[in-house]
Amino acid sequence: MKKHHLDWSSYETAGQGDAYAGIPATGGDFAKAVAVCIGDKQCQRKPKGVMCPSFRATDDPAHSPGGRVKVLKAALNGELGDDAFADARLAAAMELCVGCKGCKRECANQVDMAAIKIEYQAQRNARVGVSWRDRLVASLPQQLRHRHLVRGLIRWRNRAPWLAQLGARFFGISAQRQLPEPSATPYAAPVSGTTDLSNDRDVILFIDTFATHFEPEIAQAAHQVLVAAGYNVITLRPLADDAEPNRALCCGRTYLSLGQVDAARREAQRMHQALRPALEKGIPIVGLEPSCILSLRDDHLKLGLGETAEALAKQVYLFEEFIAREHDRKRFTLEFKPLPQGKTLVHGHCHQKAVGAMKSLRKVLRLIPEFEFEFIEASCCGMAGSFGLEAEHATVSMQMAELDLLPALRAAPDAAILANGFSCRHQIREGVERKPFHVALLLRDALDTGGARC
Ligand code: SF4
Ligand code: SF4
Repeated sequence: MKKHHLDWSSYETAGQGDAYAGIPATGGDFAKAVAVCIGDKQCQRKPKGVMCPSFRATDDPAHSPGGRVKVLKAALNGELGDDAFADARLAAAMELCVGCKGCKRECANQVDMAAIKIEYQAQRNARVGVSWRDRLVASLPQQLRHRHLVRGLIRWRNRAPWLAQLGARFFGISAQRQLPEPSATPYAAPVSGTTDLSNDRDVILFIDTFATHFEPEIAQAAHQVLVAAGYNVITLRPLADDAEPNRALCCGRTYLSLGQVDAARREAQRMHQALRPALEKGIPIVGLEPSCILSLRDDHLKLGLGETAEALAKQVYLFEEFIAREHDRKRFTLEFKPLPQGKTLVHGHCHQKAVGAMKSLRKVLRLIPEFEFEFIEASCCGMAGSFGLEAEHATVSMQMAELDLLPALRAAPDAAILANGFSCRHQIREGVERKPFHVALLLRDALDTGGARC
């Protein structure tokens, strides 16, 4: 391992006590991040929680975080040959990790296998190259500059089985799965109020790629709710001197999760530049998609981007976190009206759980008078970005969904479904043919001024 793709220096002092015996011989600070696992096999049990969806679905200890650590240690100790990151045994160990961060949150030693997988994938990419599928999926935020073409192709592919078969054959995209379709028109931010960042009710709204191009109604709803609550909402845009001023800003998540770290870093830098004035003035940054916010709060810290990344990690909130925090500070005083729908089942995205946002969501749902809801106890939905769309993973993806999530939804066929994750909503639509919604749409419907039903 000649160089690290991520910055592992935060693990520099890990392993200096007896607790972390067995730091591998090579790999530097990355090896220490692997060695924080003490091998107590707690991840090979199935209590409530997220960890570990691939172990839960396969019942195979090799697909648990601890099982992966064993093979990673062997690789870093030279037991898998000279080029372990290209070795099929390591690939098999890492393959079904969906990057849910369940282990970082639930393992007593906080093994961060999701980040370890990014480093592994980057190392492997450097040795064996990046597949066409991974190039295509990771670059989606860029491809969407040609949104009419992309939308047309996806819609055609979803309706023509022969084209889906071709996609499976040449790109490894499962012919059994539908692909999410971009909306007819992207999100168009309303003209903001003041933008000089001098108002104590300024808030920066970050509209991610998925909200911009696939579900703009979520971004509209979030904007509407925050404006109704008295905030001066400024939609985050690229700087005027940005090389691509007309392309929406992106956190780099799609690149990062497929180990394309340099491209992710470029996206992150572009975003940090646009955010710098707001960061300097302490303006909160609010986003809608759990994976994107986790990237900004956690993964960007491993991209070696210095103080801006650290400031951003402290200033970025999920929509529901921001509202709950502001409500606690008596700054969010908006009253909501009751909604006519009956019980709503709530599915939390793994990354919402990883950043500890489920408590905030519960608080926010309680702001709606008489609102009846129940949180589903489930692990990962199994879609995990593009994992569930990959031909070789489509079956295990649905097995993950069938562990708890889909049975719970089927047991309440009339319940509405709230799911804040883009990929969770796609998995649920495919799994039970019902349409889940984001909490921003729910709050917009509960505004006293009215709004379209979600
Ligand atoms: S990953 Fe965590 S829970 Fe699993 S064996 Fe290692 S220390 Fe134990
Ligand atoms: S990130 Fe999730 S899938 Fe990967 S090892 Fe950890 S718990 Fe398992």
